[in-house]
Amino acid sequence: MNLFSRLGRTLRRALCLAILALSSASIAQSPASLTYSISLLSPEQHLVEVQIFLPEGTAQSELQLPVWNALYQVRDFAQYVNWVRAKDRSGHPLAVRELNHSRWQIQGAERGAIVEYQMYVDAPGPFNAQLNTHHAFFNLAQILMYPVDGRSAALNVRFSHIPEGWRIATPLASSFSGEEFTAANYDRLVDSPVEIGKFQESDFDEGGGHYRVIVDADSGDFDLAKIVATLHKIVAAATSWMNDRPFETYTFFYHFPRGPAGGGMEHAFSTAIDVNAEVMRQSLDALTSVTAHEFFHLWNVKRIRPQTLEPIDYTKENYTRALWFSEGVTSTAEGTIQLRAGLLDEEQYLYRLGEQITELERRPAHLTQSAEESSLDAWLEGSGYYRRADRSVSYYNKGELLGVMLDLAVREASHGQASLREVLQWMNDNYAKKGRFFNDSAGVREAAEAVSHSDLGAFFTKYVAGTEEIPWNDFLRSVGLRVEVVPNTVTDAGFTASRNFDGPMSVNAVTSGSEAEHAGLQAGDTIIELQGKPAGQESREELTRLNVGDTLTVKVRSRRGGDRELKWKVGSRQEVSYEVKNLDQVTDQQRARRTAWLKGEAQSAMENSGVAGTAK
Ligand SMILES: [Zn+2]
Repeated sequence: MNLFSRLGRTLRRALCLAILALSSASIAQSPASLTYSISLLSPEQHLVEVQIFLPEGTAQSELQLPVWNALYQVRDFAQYVNWVRAKDRSGHPLAVRELNHSRWQIQGAERGAIVEYQMYVDAPGPFNAQLNTHHAFFNLAQILMYPVDGRSAALNVRFSHIPEGWRIATPLASSFSGEEFTAANYDRLVDSPVEIGKFQESDFDEGGGHYRVIVDADSGDFDLAKIVATLHKIVAAATSWMNDRPFETYTFFYHFPRGPAGGGMEHAFSTAIDVNAEVMRQSLDALTSVTAHEFFHLWNVKRIRPQTLEPIDYTKENYTRALWFSEGVTSTAEGTIQLRAGLLDEEQYLYRLGEQITELERRPAHLTQSAEESSLDAWLEGSGYYRRADRSVSYYNKGELLGVMLDLAVREASHGQASLREVLQWMNDNYAKKGRFFNDSAGVREAAEAVSHSDLGAFFTKYVAGTEEIPWNDFLRSVGLRVEVVPNTVTDAGFTASRNFDGPMSVNAVTSGSEAEHAGLQAGDTIIELQGKPAGQESREELTRLNVGDTLTVKVRSRRGGDRELKWKVGSRQEVSYEVKNLDQVTDQQRARRTAWLKGEAQSAMENSGVAGTAK
């Protein structure tokens, strides 16, 4: 909780006025360091106005608005900039020249300048920026330009015209007023989301760390005490697994919207997560999974970071082969953290592992696109065609499975002396804590080989850089498991669909000869409603609940515009599922190895602590 939120209303108003007065005065004086002022000018019209106070410098100063931020897609935030203008400290206009759609040159800025622009911001969710009459949530890279020659400079940011009763929550360090914040540089600034509104708040301490929980949602949709109890378990499990806590304070931002939602964005000192309100009322499972994932990112990708993502180039795509590790292995860790926290049991974990194997095996592209290529091609994920099962695999899905198999491979190669935990801790010690970045897959291999004292080249060549079928049973045998291929009859709606991160659900492919095709569904159609409900993250579950012969009703919008309602009967098809089962005979040794594996610990470590006494 920040100081400002504890102050009484009258005092707060007085302070507000004082700050406003200070702000106007400082325009004339112009601050010595780079300062941003963000005015929540018009919530009704979703307009913010930004002022950038440039310190004295070169005559021609260039400002750049990022074209992408955090999410690996070029989104050209400049499309929302209504106008840009500049003046000197005396208020005389300075010439502003647009160099390209996202870069502007200010002339005559040698004695400092004030650059002003207006932006429309109304995109909901953790990957976006939004101002409306309910709240503001900002990823600052989407609204703040940076001086091209001054991205590493320390800076200040303040907010003005904040509606009555709204408070500010952000991991940024605040000054005494609570409305002005500081950051060591632009990258740190834009890694710090900001929520401004009438949110609910809680906090707790765990293992020496302080945690803030900010929830902006209808109070009937969630139980804050239950969320906090779950977070306690997650942060304790993750920090003990990594044997590290590289922060004093960490902030969880949650939104539980009624409409389509789902997803989380990682930051070094915080995370922002959206879960649909309906999903929240049913159980905390979705929140638990995404929270474990995003929290682990504070190490993997934020601190254990591939060299190919540094320094960030905000002007174009940044290509990396490492997302199978940075995202996928974060999903592997998400499972382990939940197991260690007691939020998932062995049966549930193995069931989910089977689901992940099924997902990969059912995508024909697993034979044509490697995990590294899927990482490089992340920038194509906005395309519905690219998301087809015969075009791409998911670096989340394959990467998570590679994390599980690498864990088992390291255990085998090191005779139980090491595991994925040691790989991650080695990377944390040798890269993150030394301020170094790792060399994509080669850097992961270096760590895995260092802790296992073995050559793991074949693993990386075949399954990470290559598209060889992963021999699941060869890996799973050591823990007494095997994969069983189970043929079954599944319902078939006659089409596949997917969403871009916050986009609508679009039809990727329609099965030739299917009822869906006869009803008139076409690839490229956008699904607006499914069974009378707005299409979104929950639609996938809606489809899985259908039985053969049920009538499916969808409202779709064609690519040329025009909505239509289509109905057809759900059919069936033969498909195989992959289920993870016990071997017919599970030895004591395999059982002991499995216990250590599910705990995320090297077998030797567990034996030394006396947990798994039966192992040889
Ligand atoms: Zn992630």
